[in-house]
Amino acid sequence: MSQNDEVMIGLEVHIQLTNLKTKLFCSCNNDYRGAEPNTYVCPICIGLPGSLPVVNKKVIKFAIRLALALDCKINNQFWFFRKNYFYPDLPKGFQISQYNKAGGKAFADGGKIAIRLNNHKKDIILNRIHLEEDPARLVHKGSIATSPFTLVDYNRSGVCLIEIVTEPVIRSPEEAREFLKQLKSIVQYTGISNLGLEGSVRVDANVSIKGYDRSEVKNINSFKEVERALRHEIIRQKNILKRGKKLIQETRHWDDKRRITIPLRTKELEEDYRYFPEQDLVPIEINKDFIQKVKSELPEMPNERSIRFRKEYGLTEFDSYNLVLDKNFADFYEEGVKSYPSFGSEEHKLYCNWLMNDISRWLNNNNKTIKETKITPKHLVDLINTIKDGKITGKIAKSFIPDLMVGVNVKVLIEKTGKKRISDKEYILKIAKEVIINNPEIIKDFEKNPRALEALIGKCMKKTKGRLDPELTRELLLDLLSNKIKKIEI
Ligand code: ZN
Ligand code: MN
Repeated sequence: MSQNDEVMIGLEVHIQLTNLKTKLFCSCNNDYRGAEPNTYVCPICIGLPGSLPVVNKKVIKFAIRLALALDCKINNQFWFFRKNYFYPDLPKGFQISQYNKAGGKAFADGGKIAIRLNNHKKDIILNRIHLEEDPARLVHKGSIATSPFTLVDYNRSGVCLIEIVTEPVIRSPEEAREFLKQLKSIVQYTGISNLGLEGSVRVDANVSIKGYDRSEVKNINSFKEVERALRHEIIRQKNILKRGKKLIQETRHWDDKRRITIPLRTKELEEDYRYFPEQDLVPIEINKDFIQKVKSELPEMPNERSIRFRKEYGLTEFDSYNLVLDKNFADFYEEGVKSYPSFGSEEHKLYCNWLMNDISRWLNNNNKTIKETKITPKHLVDLINTIKDGKITGKIAKSFIPDLMVGVNVKVLIEKTGKKRISDKEYILKIAKEVIINNPEIIKDFEKNPRALEALIGKCMKKTKGRLDPELTRELLLDLLSNKIKKIEI
């Protein structure tokens, strides 16, 4: 195996339309999380004989929103198909889905998502998106391979899924990660689903080394797991080829507890599903006016927003690309910079930097989104203005972040902590002298390496919890040191 072996990955991403509030073909509540098992069910979603499914109109609206956002071509007439297979999570013995053969069509064809990876841009081309019902949830004790039993919870049965199928154009686990990051963002902007909910997304991945048979890895239950599962599967396949063995086309299961893929079954052929039109549902026609109406209600999508942010606020491509990923985060940014009319391009960048650095770091460390905190756009405006007015230093401002995130404003923080910027020359001189006397090593180093000055400034700041005016401290230290160096030379 050479380094240049081409990895080919195609993803099938199933997203629950959680914001529908009902299931796809019945009015059962789709918010089953935390509910008693098998309580959110009715004759339709447990497939009792004689029950008839009816398509929820809002589903069509939601699917159009996503299709437009992904640049797909919407098929204005389609119908549902039965996909037959036997499995305990499927009470009817078939799943109502869509099929793009035998006269059938997907909900929409084509489409793309633009990604960025290490400054390299690429369009991930989509094959189609289609609608289908979610099977029930199987619950195992520990790992699926060793569990002594399987429990079935039909609360999930019949929940509406939209499946996004890519072409096999993804070349690495990192590209897959970036693709999913963008997809997540777009879904959030369309308002069709809350992907923060556990189990709202499931990914199947087709993975192969160019020229060899592929495997389909099922049951990847979060976007985070995808990169990990792909990495494992690619290494597994390469190792088999290295040992001169043959890869077979098969379906594998991602065991997220043991973090390996395990064989599930050799791949069934498409014929095995015996797809045929679902006669209990009428064909659906979507007219152009309805699509136009849905289009007019769509908000600006992240890609356009990022371009506008660059133009309007002078942000870099990197910053704007990342800033718009979470809609609430981008809304926070716009509300902040717009609320203070005297903000110019310098403040627009500062505001972005605070969000992208200190605030993002806090959010990551606390595993929260901006919406789950109490900081307001105004809090950050006040913080930036207080630094600009010279009342506090950047260091002090940084130390205020954890309090700002829980809703305390900067004025209160200054009063409570007494942390104000110190510009008193005599006081700074006193601190600087102490630091010089106590750090002969650094002074010696400074003679050869002027950058050692930073260490001395750091010591002064540490002594005062970052409250000294940094410019004045630098100036005074330099004054003191140039005298001292003269003395040494004499
Ligand atoms: Zn139901
Ligand atoms: Mn599917």
